[in-house]
Amino acid sequence: MLKVNGRERMRTALLLGKDSIQVQSTQQPEIGPGDVLLRTKASLICGTDVRILRYGHAAISSGTRRILGHELSGVIARVGSDVSSLKTGMRVAVAPNMGCGLCDQCVSGNMHLCADYRALGIHIDGGFAEYVRIPSVAVRQGNVIDIPPQMSFVEAALAEPLSCVYNGFERCALRPGDTVLVMGAGPIGLMHAKMAKLGGASTVFVSDLNSERLLRCRHIDASLVALDANDIEGKIMDFTSARGVDVCITACPSAEAQQQSLQLTAVNGRVLFFGGLPTNASEVHLDTNLIHYKQLMVTGTTRASMRQFRTVLSLVGRGTLTVKEFITETFDIAEIRQAFAYTAQGLGLRCMIAFDGHAK
Ligand SMILES: [Zn+2]
Ligand SMILES: [Zn+2]
Repeated sequence: MLKVNGRERMRTALLLGKDSIQVQSTQQPEIGPGDVLLRTKASLICGTDVRILRYGHAAISSGTRRILGHELSGVIARVGSDVSSLKTGMRVAVAPNMGCGLCDQCVSGNMHLCADYRALGIHIDGGFAEYVRIPSVAVRQGNVIDIPPQMSFVEAALAEPLSCVYNGFERCALRPGDTVLVMGAGPIGLMHAKMAKLGGASTVFVSDLNSERLLRCRHIDASLVALDANDIEGKIMDFTSARGVDVCITACPSAEAQQQSLQLTAVNGRVLFFGGLPTNASEVHLDTNLIHYKQLMVTGTTRASMRQFRTVLSLVGRGTLTVKEFITETFDIAEIRQAFAYTAQGLGLRCMIAFDGHAK
């Protein structure tokens, strides 16, 4: 860290506008009495970040210079004078979602569904900087969670996407021996596949149109059955003796996958629309008689609650769920543009932004 005129500086990847992200030296954030200052150790880029860079975001007005990054972990560098629950030097994971704390959703523990929901790295500055101000609302809400010594910073940062997957997993009501199809072999699809295995699924199929992406299934779990998405119905019916799968998860932004999922799911099955569709393409023609006559449960999830975030952290902390294999590349903050390009290409899984050289 440089000091210029006595003020502390930091390296920051600033979103300046559409398709414009630049690493600059900026002033380290000031913190208020209820805030903490995080020294970032790992930040991950996800599809949401790529979409924000490409298309902008409703919560980021034009001309706003925002620091993205909502999947992050680090060490507490400083605590505000009113903060007693956290100490300098603690290694922590940070959940990004904040609610108003007062509405029915917040009071029931679903801050991620609050109408006034805000997230680090979207509504306020996030983890693509050496230091991040964690606001008092997040500190009070329990978003800053100390991690066990054996947990790496990258594992802690992975808790965010995993918690969203876990939210979906809970809605699928998976039972031991169930068959599962995950449509989409991106990092999120493979996290769903891994979670389904952990939850007792007998067979987990993963489909994708891209054969290169399907090769990654092996990298995650050798027992996953990778299927080319062409003629997926024929293949699933062959594998399941024409029953269909008990649980079908769409982890891709595809209306066709949503339509197919109803065909591919067995009687009394559950369908999860996990991947959202582009804003102007979300009206999809569905054969609702399939839902009716097969008694399907069709659901969707978004983001994750604090409870789900903490559950995932403890699964990873205890070694029940291994996640390191989801990181396929590491870039220094100075290489943020390469990191975005890598993520946009979709051939690797998650990439990590590191701040101390390439240390993991
Ligand atoms: Zn994300
Ligand atoms: Zn609320």
